[in-house]
Amino acid sequence: MERKNAWKGYKKRELKELEKVCSAYRDFLDAGKTERECVKTTIEMAEKAGYENLDGYIKAGKKLKAGDKVYAELMGKSIALFNIGTESIEKGINILGAHIDSPRLDVKQNPLYEDNGFAYLDTHYYGGIKKYQWVTIPLAIHGVVAKKDGSVVDIVIGEDEKDPVFCVTDLLIHLAADQMEKKASKVIEGENLDILFASKPLADKDKDAVKAGVLSLLLEKYGIEEEDFLSAELEIVPAGKARNAGLDSSMILAYGQDDRVCAYASLAAMLDVKKVKKTACCLLVDKEEIGSVGATGMRSKFFENTMAEVMNCMGEYSELALRRCLAASRMLSSDVSAAYDPAYASAFDKKNAAYFGKGVVFNKFTGARGKSGSNDANAEYLGAIRAILDEKGVAFQTAELGKVDVGGGGTIAYILSLYGMEVIDCGVAVLSMHAPWEVTSKADVYEAKKGYEAFLELA
Ligand code: MN
Ligand code: MN
Repeated sequence: MERKNAWKGYKKRELKELEKVCSAYRDFLDAGKTERECVKTTIEMAEKAGYENLDGYIKAGKKLKAGDKVYAELMGKSIALFNIGTESIEKGINILGAHIDSPRLDVKQNPLYEDNGFAYLDTHYYGGIKKYQWVTIPLAIHGVVAKKDGSVVDIVIGEDEKDPVFCVTDLLIHLAADQMEKKASKVIEGENLDILFASKPLADKDKDAVKAGVLSLLLEKYGIEEEDFLSAELEIVPAGKARNAGLDSSMILAYGQDDRVCAYASLAAMLDVKKVKKTACCLLVDKEEIGSVGATGMRSKFFENTMAEVMNCMGEYSELALRRCLAASRMLSSDVSAAYDPAYASAFDKKNAAYFGKGVVFNKFTGARGKSGSNDANAEYLGAIRAILDEKGVAFQTAELGKVDVGGGGTIAYILSLYGMEVIDCGVAVLSMHAPWEVTSKADVYEAKKGYEAFLELA
């Protein structure tokens, strides 16, 4: 069963539209390199598209009605958007879900130290990474420092051309004979992923003079003292912008495409969709990469609480109505899939792999070792989705993440399925997933956005 390559079918107008979608996608990636930045950018885009904060409705006791567009956010790290439909909400809603956290290095709470004329920031990596990929590349710092007086300082260093960047050093090849014999998982140890932060000592200091220089700069530029690191969230990410890739510019090379490619495609579809019969929802959550834990992860009650508030504002809330709505809902749990990589062919089953350019990928099941941990979507649901995508001419493919028993990966699908709703994993194929720079196909980004829009309109 061959699936067609979407590039082959595009007319001039579609290619233009595809470039427009992908250019906006690159901007989204550049503006949102952390979950906080993604939520901020999402709110800006949503408000421009006529969305209002649900809090306003709750406080004013204003009634939500068909055609209204609202959003709710939690701690600036997770967000849910709703476009209220004409049909009774008890009959269920259509949900597009994706995550906006990505693998990175997080600065520890007591991070700053000096060693032989260098100041370092100590880190703990976040999510699954091949640690050796994070040394010697230019890195930027994004995040917030919450001070005792309640103020929060936003920090972005390393993205502007005039900014300095940071790095983690590696041992020169000339002295690396022992290191090169180590297993890849041991070549660079997690505790050694410390950021080279400064090297200029203060002239009037004898001890820890470089660290003193760092502290005086932090105070002068950001009003931060060493103790303020205690209540900071500073994320170290690859420095630089998303780029077109390939001589034909058919791909995108960027940090954080797992899962901001699905987050963006979902959001763009959500903002473009006009009047809907079933209430449409776009859910962008944090903490997927570490098990969807915490208040801002999918396993928290944020989504359920927000649904209760939405139904209450519509005058339709009761515990039973909420349960019925959730059980009758349909969801696309969108997360990236592993693209077939000819250089690593042995990790894939060629017949059931995701290919660049063949459209949005559906994973009936994920999981590992006998589908363990998999959501395993219903055949009937997948059948209904196929019909919708074919009706709207959306390119799609089905795949499994790698060969049987090679590995696997989790998503947020199983969490929403707990309500008894129909959920299927889908998303965009990525090369070098979880690497500092990941690759996607522009055709797949475009088809995903089209597919999500079709789902919101017709599911
Ligand atoms: Mn993911
Ligand atoms: Mn991931």
